[in-house]
Amino acid sequence: MSQEKTDAAPAPAEAKTVAACVREMRRAAARGEPVDAEVIGAWGETFMTELYGKQKPVRFEVRPKGVINGWGNPLEGDVAHASRRRLDVRALYLHPPPTKPVKEHRWDDKNICRDCQEPMFLSGPDCVPPGKVINFRDRDAISLEWFRQPLEELIQLAKTARINRFDAAKLTNEANYLIERIDQHLKGKSNEPQ
Ligand SMILES: [Zn+2]
Repeated sequence: MSQEKTDAAPAPAEAKTVAACVREMRRAAARGEPVDAEVIGAWGETFMTELYGKQKPVRFEVRPKGVINGWGNPLEGDVAHASRRRLDVRALYLHPPPTKPVKEHRWDDKNICRDCQEPMFLSGPDCVPPGKVINFRDRDAISLEWFRQPLEELIQLAKTARINRFDAAKLTNEANYLIERIDQHLKGKSNEPQ
């Protein structure tokens, strides 16, 4: 089913600042009508550029004291002589300080990330590769490391659960023995020449 455009639908977004995007988003929400994917894409693009792009210098806005709205661009000397001219001043950071992504995407020649497989036009600022999928039918897909935590929990359980102390001691000994063997095995593996 195609979305019919109405007169109320916004033109393809011109919003080039975060504030303008937010304004458009709020108006769109107030209208309560679906928004074109193209418009949403442009908003996302603006947020990415403006919030995670390079930091630009701050600018100032002024308004007469006692006025609720009406922030405007300062005339020459308005900021320096705000008090004498009875003006309120606000400094606007066009960009918040850019935060460094925890992990950067690595784009291939099709602009798809090698690590998280997200296409560039969909991606967020952080690269979040999906967890490794373990195929349990693959007999090689097994790591002794996986057994350590359940074994350690078993030892913990042996201390606290209501089982008789001989069983608890036996459980603890056996789990400790298995952990030792896992460690030996892993150590041996890491010492093998690659
Ligand atoms: Zn990525």
